[in-house]
Amino acid sequence: MNHENIISQRLVIIPLTLYIHFPWCLSKCPYCDFNSHVLSDEKAIASYVDSLLVDLEIEARTHKGSELSSIYFGGGTPSLLSANMVTKIIQQISKSFTFKPAIEITLEANPGTIDLKRCEEFQHAGINRISLGIQSFDDEKLKAIKRIHDAKQALAAIDVVKSAGFTNFNLDLMFGLPGQSIADGLKDLQAALNFMPPHLSWYQLTIEPNTLFAAVKPSRLPHSEKLWEIQQAGQDFLSKMGLKQYEVAAFCRSAENTCRHNINYWQYGDYLGIGAGAHSKITAINHSVKRYWKTADPRVYTQSEDFIEGEEIVATGKIPLEFMFNALRLYQPLSYGLFQERTGFTIDSIKTQLQSAQELGLIELADDSIVTTKHGKNFLNDLLEIFL
Ligand code: SF4
Repeated sequence: MNHENIISQRLVIIPLTLYIHFPWCLSKCPYCDFNSHVLSDEKAIASYVDSLLVDLEIEARTHKGSELSSIYFGGGTPSLLSANMVTKIIQQISKSFTFKPAIEITLEANPGTIDLKRCEEFQHAGINRISLGIQSFDDEKLKAIKRIHDAKQALAAIDVVKSAGFTNFNLDLMFGLPGQSIADGLKDLQAALNFMPPHLSWYQLTIEPNTLFAAVKPSRLPHSEKLWEIQQAGQDFLSKMGLKQYEVAAFCRSAENTCRHNINYWQYGDYLGIGAGAHSKITAINHSVKRYWKTADPRVYTQSEDFIEGEEIVATGKIPLEFMFNALRLYQPLSYGLFQERTGFTIDSIKTQLQSAQELGLIELADDSIVTTKHGKNFLNDLLEIFL
């Protein structure tokens, strides 16, 4: 990496978000490689929340007064938290951090764990966006991936989220489910669109190592050609229905409905993570990037004193490549200004990689931005590999 391309001092504030990990679920889905565990004793929730509050207090010592642009309760199944607990956590956050006007505060919820009262209470606690793990509206498919809910509960969950007054919500749906045809995939999307969701996450079922499905592969998984056809048909359908794809798996009805929390990750913003296994990334004034992560096992986490399991300073030369690896997921022109602001490097620092990508037809270089071509979007892994 040529050091002429380094900008010595950071001139702007990099946006900061907060992620709160809740590791418990009612059962473990066989495809899930998240840090999630079956809740065997309800008492574990209260002691976990106590630890979260201490973890938060420790983070606040270093970042007191910093402005948060979003907060995200992810999991696991954070809708197993009581509204009182959510209130307590948000109040504690507000004592140490300032909230950006119109801050986005998301809570992930699963059908079967919420009702109208609970949703209203979450809203009262300060949650203003719900992300619902629907995955499919087809009972046979839900059974095949061993979700705890059925289609009826999925429909009811969306109803209660809307009835509680949430205008900003996401529906998570999967494709590539066992036995799924193109028509099945489109039927799921249509069922979701009947609720006019402001945001959809539509992602492929993948078999990850160390999951139950990796040990016992489900039968009738669509082969790669079929997956491609389902994906193309689904993307065309969503586009015709007025949803804009702004990331590999994310679709929104309008620019206000993008998930700002996730966009911050993809734009190489900073984030704090509290909870078991949560990761943080902080950029110093001299542009050095520190990552650290919390103890992953929730039982060990609740007995820990400082919660930190590991940390690293990202090698300076890796920063521009890390930025590209994240930002290329976004389906929007990538400005040279943002690259410079977030990495501390001029765009010339990745000139060789950009030229290779351009020669392969994966990107186009405009005067002020990088534009991923259709070919680049279709072969994103090839594009990302150039920056590995
Ligand atoms: S509900 Fe979500 S986090 Fe929990 S096991 Fe299933 S996929 Fe994983």
